[in-house]
Amino acid sequence: MQHTNDIKKTLFTQQQIAARIEEMGAEITKDYAGKRPIVIGVLKGAWIFLADLLREVDVDVDVDFMSVSSYGSGTTTSGSLTIVKDLTVDVSGRDVIIVEDIVDTGTTLARLKEMLLARNANSVAIATLLNKPSRRKVEVAVNYFGFEIPDEFVVGFGLDFDEKYRTLKDVCVLKEEAYM
Ligand code: 5GP
Repeated sequence: MQHTNDIKKTLFTQQQIAARIEEMGAEITKDYAGKRPIVIGVLKGAWIFLADLLREVDVDVDVDFMSVSSYGSGTTTSGSLTIVKDLTVDVSGRDVIIVEDIVDTGTTLARLKEMLLARNANSVAIATLLNKPSRRKVEVAVNYFGFEIPDEFVVGFGLDFDEKYRTLKDVCVLKEEAYM
């Protein structure tokens, strides 16, 4: 069920996304040459992006997934980060790349990064398909991003609304009626 009637506009097509992911993969390959990073996919939004990105990365990686929810004030990193699903690997001494679908306020990633550093990761980088810098409330360094987008709610390519639209092949903005 692709819900194509619910789409107001397409921001990035499958082809544009694939081309950008190829570039991101090449950048990560260069930066991590000779290393073996742990790549952590943040569930659920990141799995489609992660699958495509890692097939463009030509270094050995370990892959794991986490599911987290962020509560408390969006303006600090000190609010709680609830771990819904934790890692099965030890990040101590390892180079970590967090893969996320979108960085919005930055709260979730800032807290997640802090937590991984507290677990003694050697380094923690962030790779996201989409970046909404105009919405940022917490400073977080985004090392790799696919596209910057304005303050619009997007779906597709892993991103959902109410669990729908994740499998859309493009990144899209929905019609208002679709939120009803
Ligand atoms: P942050 O902690 O950066 O505010 O939150 C990031 C999370 O908010 C993302 O992982 C994603 O789940 C959700 N999010 C933020 N903006 C959007 C958007 O435009 N579309 C969708 N589907 N989710 C979003």
